[in-house]
Amino acid sequence: MTNGFEPKFLICSECKEEFVFTSAAQQYFVERGYTEEPKRCKSCHTQYKKMQRDQRDIGTPVASGSGFSD
Ligand SMILES: [Zn+2]
Repeated sequence: MTNGFEPKFLICSECKEEFVFTSAAQQYFVERGYTEEPKRCKSCHTQYKKMQRDQRDIGTPVASGSGFSD
């Protein structure tokens, strides 16, 4: 049942709300070699990604769903 990660509670840098960095998400991060914890909650993260995509307009497709797969 466990993958060795404990869910962590983090504070979103955008909305200052507490959110859960789930064990699954942590595992996802590790698998991709990410060393930093997420700074944003899921909804702010989605907004952030959307914003980046809008700013970038066309061109390099942004890898979707990086980090959060509950
Ligand atoms: Zn947030």
